[in-house]
Amino acid sequence: MCGIVAYVGDRTAYPILIKGLQRLEYRGYDSAGIALLNGETHVYKCKGKVKDLQALAKDKDISGTVGMGHTRWATHGEPSDRNAHPHQSMNGKFFVVHNGIIENYSHLKKELQNRGYKFASDTDTEVLANLIENIYLEQKVSAELAVRLALTRVVGAYGLVISCEDEPGTLIAARKGSPLVIGIGEHEYFLASDATPIVEYTDKVLYLNDEEVAVITRDSLDLKNLLNDSKTPEIQKITLSIDHIDKGGYEHFMLKEIHEQPLTIQDTFRGRIAMDESKIFLGGILDVMPKLINAKRIIIVACGTSWHAGLVGEYLFEQYARIPVEVEYASEFRYRDPIIYPDDLVIAISQSGETADTLAAIRKVKETQATILGICNVAGSSISRETDAGVYTHAGIEIGVASTKAFTSQITVLTMMALVLGSKRQTLAPELYHHLIHELIQVPKKIEEILKEEEKIKAIAAVYKDVSNALYMGRGLLFPVALEGALKLKEISYIHAEGYPAAEMKHGPIALIDENMPVLALAGNDTSYEKMISNIQEVKARKGKVIAIVSRGDKTIRKMADHVIEIPECHEAVSPLLAVIPLQILSYHIAVMRECNVDQPRNLAKSVTVE
Ligand code: GLU
Repeated sequence: MCGIVAYVGDRTAYPILIKGLQRLEYRGYDSAGIALLNGETHVYKCKGKVKDLQALAKDKDISGTVGMGHTRWATHGEPSDRNAHPHQSMNGKFFVVHNGIIENYSHLKKELQNRGYKFASDTDTEVLANLIENIYLEQKVSAELAVRLALTRVVGAYGLVISCEDEPGTLIAARKGSPLVIGIGEHEYFLASDATPIVEYTDKVLYLNDEEVAVITRDSLDLKNLLNDSKTPEIQKITLSIDHIDKGGYEHFMLKEIHEQPLTIQDTFRGRIAMDESKIFLGGILDVMPKLINAKRIIIVACGTSWHAGLVGEYLFEQYARIPVEVEYASEFRYRDPIIYPDDLVIAISQSGETADTLAAIRKVKETQATILGICNVAGSSISRETDAGVYTHAGIEIGVASTKAFTSQITVLTMMALVLGSKRQTLAPELYHHLIHELIQVPKKIEEILKEEEKIKAIAAVYKDVSNALYMGRGLLFPVALEGALKLKEISYIHAEGYPAAEMKHGPIALIDENMPVLALAGNDTSYEKMISNIQEVKARKGKVIAIVSRGDKTIRKMADHVIEIPECHEAVSPLLAVIPLQILSYHIAVMRECNVDQPRNLAKSVTVE
């Protein structure tokens, strides 16, 4: 996944690069490195985080007004000093930082080895650095042409910043699959994997498109494609502000983002629900509305937490819009030979809008006549640009690797979409449509009430912080929430956790239950309530510990469960938005008590831009 940052201009590059890398650290933190490129090049890089890099560079020469930096999530070669970026070509001509995977690297490496190239790392990136250099030296072409020629030979994904020793003051950027943004200032340019390192310097940005190459100096930006056709830069204004990218007094980004949810959900529906609550208006999908109304099937493609949001969407679309839904892992869908009809509606969900598998899945759908919608958080992201239409979640930048506010905003969008379609298809009675709009509007206030229970949830976390396993069970709309709760726990606290439809317990998982097994039981105030009571009894009969999420005022489950967390009463359609909050808080506090790195869990990174 990796984060890239680079600068060319009149300022000292080092602090810009370091600050940029800190902002991008959510993308990977296996190693960090920088190259300062004025005249004599200085490279500092090491295994570990940006703070380790800062310690390494302390007391060293950090001057220079041109530079590049990288924070790594390793795909090829273990996290180590030698595998850290920037990578230098064997004869020292080129420096490269890379986000992505060169899939045919081993073939290219052999070819280069046969030409006498020696490698100092195990990465695919170094192969590219050497390939560019080999073309440059043998064919005696410009650095830019060498880069383009090398890239025509590459299979895979890349966001790249490259410099050539012979052309100081010039940076070459290229992209395919992995994101790259160029910030445009006065006689200066900023490059980064997303806009967060750029916002404090300029609001003018250019998002590189696939197979575009930009040659950048302090005073110029020349954009072309791999075939050397000139391209006109499409400069956009970004609205992201610095306040969105600090912790705002919270100990961790994840905690801040959990607490932001009353606001972020409001931001998701702001301007989209009429003041009198009479209707929902989704401007982003207006143009394709006739196709949506007549869709015979919805296919949702997503990964991870977004896939869980998709499962919530499945229930909502089927229940209220009466359209059959399939929810697919994008990574599986893209490699199958799926049957897609012209009147299918495909919805891609991705927080970053850059998720490699989801992007590949929609590219596959683009070969058909189906309509494609995107639900993304990052404006201008690849998925938002490559879909026919879409709805932004407007949750604001999410930095904690474990997704929280993006999940609830995705569900908010899916709920609004399902209600709009239900209303337009007349499968949802007007009274219920209005009632559900009202229920949705009440959600932020109800989440605030749940957040007030944090201390109580923290006390439950203290009881279970040392367990090795946990089960989560729910039914209907709360089944995907059980999956999401289990994912939150395992990804940040490293406790093995599984989510199940409650009725599936007796088909296997119940065998795991003994007095050491906590079971999170999500009991909605809905038609499945009685069944959930039976499922809780089954757990208790085997001495399992039950932590139940129940509707406020519930008396029955309180008598059976070891712990009860109440959520305000609500219509079941919006219950996922409330029920997930205590699970997020519980996972957060368990992880903190286990002294885990909550915002940067091991082996993970946000924005999965590699397969
Ligand atoms: N393949 C490169 C490496 O392992 C970049 C990884 C990435 O972008 O995740 O260093």
